[in-house]
Amino acid sequence: VFNNKQPVIFCDFDGTITDKDVIMMVMEKFAPPEWHAIVDDIMLHRSLSIKEGVQALFHLLESSQKAEIIDFVLKTVRLRQGFEAFLLFCQQQHIPFIVVSGGVDFFITPILEPYKNQLQIFCNQGDFSSPRIRLTMPYLKEDCTACGQCAVCKISILELYPSEAYYRIAIGDSITDLGMTHVADQTFARSKLVTYMREIGKEPLLFETFHDIQRVLEAGVRNKMIHAH
Ligand code: MG
Repeated sequence: VFNNKQPVIFCDFDGTITDKDVIMMVMEKFAPPEWHAIVDDIMLHRSLSIKEGVQALFHLLESSQKAEIIDFVLKTVRLRQGFEAFLLFCQQQHIPFIVVSGGVDFFITPILEPYKNQLQIFCNQGDFSSPRIRLTMPYLKEDCTACGQCAVCKISILELYPSEAYYRIAIGDSITDLGMTHVADQTFARSKLVTYMREIGKEPLLFETFHDIQRVLEAGVRNKMIHAH
């Protein structure tokens, strides 16, 4: 159980902590119709990398819309069932909970504000100093060619917690989470991530709510206690 290492959680935000993809909700509400073509270029034609695509999507939005966007996400975004209870469980068990997201701080931070003492966030940053929103990506190396499937390098964030000391648990729902499943000790997946993992011959633990994840980890914690006695 946890191989006698300290467990640590690395959890995606959009479509994992939230029940829907917040970037898509924001585009649907605020972006001009061109945003659909950009998403197609990323997902369908693969002519834009996720990094370029996400930059282009946010560049459709005006910096002056910031407050309105935050107000909208706070009113409409729903968190996945069991999230609050799971954070409490992690806190009680001294399991660090790390959010790893290709989304942007200006909407992630307000949504997670009530839980800010129970988690740590690694994500992209919005820059509102020009007429249109720009993104800075502090967790993506300029020259990274490892997979080109992200706007934030989740693998490099996992590597901040070396595998010699940490039992790394990844939680995610989409292609941008596939990278971290290569280096994680255990992955909980839902939605498209399940398919992507099966395509490369990996079988994740499945989840729909955070209760599902908590049940598995509770059993792990119990086992560890039995072994320790
Ligand atoms: Mg996601």
